[in-house]
Amino acid sequence: MEELQVNDIFYSIQGEGKYLGEPQMFLRLQGCNFRCKWCDTREAWDGDGGVSMGMDKIIDKLKRFNCSRICVTGGEPLLQSDKLLHLLEQLKELNYSIVLETNGSMVDKEIFSLVDCVSADMKPPSSGMKSTDKILSSLKHKDQLKIIVEDKTDFDFAKDVIKRCQCICYLQPVGGINVKQVANWVLNDQLENVRVTLQLHKLMGMK
Ligand code: SF4
Repeated sequence: MEELQVNDIFYSIQGEGKYLGEPQMFLRLQGCNFRCKWCDTREAWDGDGGVSMGMDKIIDKLKRFNCSRICVTGGEPLLQSDKLLHLLEQLKELNYSIVLETNGSMVDKEIFSLVDCVSADMKPPSSGMKSTDKILSSLKHKDQLKIIVEDKTDFDFAKDVIKRCQCICYLQPVGGINVKQVANWVLNDQLENVRVTLQLHKLMGMK
């Protein structure tokens, strides 16, 4: 029986991107190939951690919530791409709307075309990690890109990415930086194709 390493299954409010504020079910998969400086889900790093769960059990758990929208997140979900594809195919047959969150380190065209929205990160210099440039050309209009901004170096990095991206790019200030500062940089440079947002779930103290 095919099993996925699962960190958590829960129901919460989407705190990022174009679905901001929407109640969604979250399937957090275990294992990550990045070690971002400001990561807040370190419990999902270890690929052998969490619990092994068969597809039927995952779907049963999701069905307990009265919700048709699923956000698959991590960790990095694409580290389990073969099994994940089979799960996503079953979820699409059940008419769920699916957002796939990924750290931008890899591309899986089959999965990207199956889900309703790929929500990819482009890791900025302050993270200490590097996403692949291939993610930019893989994202379609339905998808979204998210970039954390900790300082001006991150913003300058984001500016270059925004110009090359086909979809909307969400800038998310973190750490000591003021959201107004990021907003002013965006306005000063008259950037298009961008939204300045806060991570709502953190403001609300939710996971
Ligand atoms: S990609 Fe996500 S889960 Fe992995 S280290 Fe970075 S912030 Fe944490």
